Formats: sequence, C-alpha cells, structure tokens
Amino acid sequence: MATKLDTSVLQHFMSLSQRGKVQAEYVWIGGSGQDLRSKTRTLDAVPSSVADLPVWNFDGSSTGQAPGTDSEVLLRPQRIFADPFRGGDNILVICDCVAPDGTPIPSNTRAPAVEVFDRVKASQPWFGMEQEYTLFEADKVTPFGWPRGGFPAPQGPYYCSAGADVAFGRSVVEAHYRACLYAGVHIAGCNAEVLPGQWEYQVGICEGLEAGDHLWMSRYIMYRVCEAFGVNVSFDPKPIPGDWNGSGCHTNYSTVETRADGGYDAILAQLERLRARHLEHIEMYGKGNERRLTGAHETAPIHRFSYGVANRGASIRIPRSTEASRSGYYEDRRPASNMDPYVVSAKIAKTTLLDE
Ligand code: ADP
Ligand code: MN
Ligand code: MN
Ligand code: MN
Repeated sequence: MATKLDTSVLQHFMSLSQRGKVQAEYVWIGGSGQDLRSKTRTLDAVPSSVADLPVWNFDGSSTGQAPGTDSEVLLRPQRIFADPFRGGDNILVICDCVAPDGTPIPSNTRAPAVEVFDRVKASQPWFGMEQEYTLFEADKVTPFGWPRGGFPAPQGPYYCSAGADVAFGRSVVEAHYRACLYAGVHIAGCNAEVLPGQWEYQVGICEGLEAGDHLWMSRYIMYRVCEAFGVNVSFDPKPIPGDWNGSGCHTNYSTVETRADGGYDAILAQLERLRARHLEHIEMYGKGNERRLTGAHETAPIHRFSYGVANRGASIRIPRSTEASRSGYYEDRRPASNMDPYVVSAKIAKTTLLDE
C-alpha cells in the first residue's frame, strides 16, 4: 500500500487562489472498456458548453488504445460536470475517443449509441440504472469489513442495514453520494446490499445518451473517492464465489409508448422483442456475467428469458406499480455491474424500438 500523505498539508495548497484559471479533468474509458482514465488541463475561463472546450489527445499506446507507432488518440469533450474534488469552477469532462481522422476507435461505445438515440428520439427512452459494487480492503482480497482470511456471518442482516457489525464502508457511500450531487450526476438513491461490503446507488432517470454519460461519471467519482480513502472498489459481477450475492446493474426502462395510458400492451410487445434477442443482449451485458446469472441469488439463469410481475428471479421484472396503472416502466435485471451503460442502453432502445 502507498505511504499515506498528510492531507492537512495538502489543504494549505488547495486553499491557494487559482487566479481565475479553471482546471478541467478530461475523463475517458480506457482500452479494457472498463477502466477509466483522466488528465488535467488549464482553461483561461469557465466554459459555457463543451463547444468551448478544446479537443485534446493522449498516448493511446499506454492505455491499450493505439499502437506505439501511431499512438495519438483524440479526446472529444462531450458533457461537463462540476468537479467535486477540486471544487470551485473546476470541471470534470466526459470525453469520447477518436482516431486522428475523426473515426471512433473500437473502445468508443458512445459513438454508436449516439446513432441509435438519434433514431429513437421521439420515443424518449428513459433509463434508471442500479449500480451495485463491492468495497475491498487495500489488499484487494478482503472484502471491506470481512475478517482477514475468513468469512462473516451468512447473508441476511446486511441489506439496507445499520450498525458497525453489518454496514461496512458507509463513509465511501456518503462521500460518493454527495460528490455526485455536487457534480450534477443524476444520482437517485443508495442502499447497503445483500453481500457484506456491497452497496448500490441508482442513477436516473436519464434520457437516452445521458444515462451512459452520468453512469460512467458516477463510476469515475467512485474510483476517486475510494482512492482518497485508500480502499478499492470492485465492479466484478461475482466478487466472491459461492453462496454470496453477485453484483448487477439493473436497468429500468420506459418510453413514451410504455408510459402512455394503456402502455401495458406496448410493454408486452417490447418484452417479446427482447425475448427474441435474449442471447444478443446477454453477450453485451458485461464480462463474467455467467458467474452471476445462475438462477440463484435473485437472478434468472443466463440462457433462459423470462419476465414476471414483482418477480426478482426473472430476467425482467414488471413492477407492481406498472401492472396496477397499466403503464410505466420495467426492469431488465440481466446487466452485470461491470456493463457498459452506452452499450446496454443503446441495445435496449435498438431492440425495443427498432427491432434490430
Ligand atoms: P429496485 O426495487 O429494483 O431496487 P430501485 O429503487 O433501486 O429499484 O431503482 C429503480 C430505478 O428505476 C430508479 O433509478 C428510478 O429512477 C428508475 N425509474 C423509475 N421510474 C422510471 C421510468 N418511468 N423509466 C425508467 N426508469 C425509471
Ligand atoms: Mn435497487
Ligand atoms: Mn440491488
Ligand atoms: Mn433492481
């Protein structure tokens, strides 16, 4: 573990004036499709939109995103958030990655999502994503709060818990929640989860592309908060094998058609389209998801599509409130915690609205 630097010393420097300059942290998805990278540049003034932000570049050969012989990848600013770490006028900027000729590089899953959402605008697809994750000690082996080399009491008392013996790591959760609110990320709530050391927060309601931008930024903020506390976050869909819950990223979804009076028929039609493309979706719903979607621990078996009202053992759950009002949203429970929200949101919209 790294030597701890004295944060009270840092405080002095961070209280110095920036003299009107703005620090912009450009954030992008790295070559694994799951890692997040960022770097900072100084701006002379507060930008009023992404159009004011310069295109930048980075060394793609160091992130698995370009060969060393032609290493330059361009960063295109796409959405601005307030920076909860530096505060003031400083900003975080979600960027996507393009080659020097302007074509999106393979890890740029945002670009194809833009195309889908442009085509389905009239249906106003709304998303609410439930991001589950597990905290680990600095050793990355011991889940936070677990006895080293051993196991805590079986699952049961941890979900939505309070108390030092059952809720582990709340400082991270609270810091992340407030940082997201400050940043302007549409965080909707949070709760302790079933596995000890596991938590969830929700992002949404977001329309279209906003869902991916906000969820990715919420993950970046989580990495930074964990860095500050010296703990690790895992988005692995089954961080502990055996009789312990995995982590998902349930994706709640509705469109103009499903939200309208009598939208239940539109929901059933969309569910049939989803059934027909079940395996296509599973392939796009996160690495290692087969370790999680076993049919146990509130999941449906990976190879079988099902839906049901209030059924947490189905691929898709229709909330009681949706059934009662004959309109509203439904929950795709299949996506893994490490899924790419650009890929998942765009695929759901494509299948349900374009039948492609
Ligand atoms: P669960 O009961 O599965 O734990 P949560 O309360 O964690 O559900 O999450 C429900 C999510 O559904 C929230 O993010 C919320 O914003 C989202 N949601 C609510 N209404 C809609 C809707 N009409 N369309 C899409 N998402 C919605
Ligand atoms: Mn939830
Ligand atoms: Mn949950
Ligand atoms: Mn859920």
